[in-house]
Amino acid sequence: MPKMLQATIPCIQCRQPFRVNFQNVVDAKQDPQAKMRLLTGQLNMAQCPNCGAPNTMLTPLVYHDPTKELLITYVPMELNLSKEAQEKAIGDLVKSVTSELPQGAFKAYLLQPRQALTMQGLIDQILQADGVTPEMMEAQRSRVRLIETMLEASDEELESIIRQNDAQIDTQFMQTMSLLAQRMLQEGRQGLAERLVQVQNRIVELSSFGKELVERARVQEEVIQQVADEVNALGENADRPEFMDLAIRYADDDARLQALVGLARPVFDYQFFQELQGRIGQVAAAERPKLEALREKLLELTALADQQTRAALQDAAALLQAIVNSPNPQDVIEANLPLIDVTFMQVLSANIQEAERRGDARTGERLKTIYNQIVGLLQANMPPELQFINEVLSAQTPEEARMLIAQRVRDFDGHLLEAIDAVEDQVAEQNDPALTERLNLLREEAAQALG
Ligand SMILES: [Zn+2]
Repeated sequence: MPKMLQATIPCIQCRQPFRVNFQNVVDAKQDPQAKMRLLTGQLNMAQCPNCGAPNTMLTPLVYHDPTKELLITYVPMELNLSKEAQEKAIGDLVKSVTSELPQGAFKAYLLQPRQALTMQGLIDQILQADGVTPEMMEAQRSRVRLIETMLEASDEELESIIRQNDAQIDTQFMQTMSLLAQRMLQEGRQGLAERLVQVQNRIVELSSFGKELVERARVQEEVIQQVADEVNALGENADRPEFMDLAIRYADDDARLQALVGLARPVFDYQFFQELQGRIGQVAAAERPKLEALREKLLELTALADQQTRAALQDAAALLQAIVNSPNPQDVIEANLPLIDVTFMQVLSANIQEAERRGDARTGERLKTIYNQIVGLLQANMPPELQFINEVLSAQTPEEARMLIAQRVRDFDGHLLEAIDAVEDQVAEQNDPALTERLNLLREEAAQALG
């Protein structure tokens, strides 16, 4: 993996020096995210912690994509390097690429890197090698223009703009929107990013494509629910052969297979594939191609699931970065509350532990403050029943809990009982007798008080 480097640069706006991470090798195969950052103008960009201005670290750069046999060098003119210094910088970078190649992977194109004179030239060469034609680039530009028009429109205008451009709204259009929203967040333009999300929601409501998305999500949800029911029916002690039978039953149904892998990824480990291989050896010859195809499919799906997990972790890390770098973390948290999930909280906790391990008290404190702000916001957004249950469960003593219940239980209606039942279901899995006892007490009192 190409290394991240560090440098201290003065901010282009406020001149305050600050430390930035940057990279001077982009390997499209090892790190597709870095390629995306390059193509969207995000590479080596950092926000000034003092004034929030986006700064781009200028550095000689080598772009490598072994799958396309593409090696391109770029030295920003602004660096004013002498010809000799340019050649030396590029020579060193190319050497660092070739020296990391596995044995036998050296090919002739590595001896003759192409050169890009500007960043845009570099981007064009990469896109061209990806098969992106000038027409496709123009189509992308018109998507961005349409999104800009939508952002500037009033609510009434927006509705008619969406209806008029129904045919333009497709997967690529929605991807472009998400990409723009990400970029706005990174640039600290909260308000605009929020507006973009509102526009996106209207598009989902009003456009044919949006309605199709909703319907697809509904069907997918149904499939996942059905598969989850079948997995639950196997019981807690289900072993690999039982999951294998289930997978074989789903062999012709990609949606169900995908749901199965998503729900029970750990089952599909090395041993599972060994056992499946064994089964393939035992069945009649006519059955074999079906199982072999299933094996390929499952390998693909597990790789995809792992990739999605990695992507989710990277998204969470990027969001955390945006929160940490913002002069107003609370605003960024509020704007992104729907994105704050279990994965995000895991990444945040891991960062707090890492800061403590390094003895970096300042970062640790900053992260803990963010953690508390998030927990506070999440609680404030909870239904009142859940807030009340939380209060009762976190009371210091059983007496205090009893008092809280006596004082406030009449403020609620039947929803409180439903909420208690839901929490009890969750707690049952944790095997915590004290917690269970307090919930039982709450339930009895609530049932009595509510008649
Ligand atoms: Zn600054």
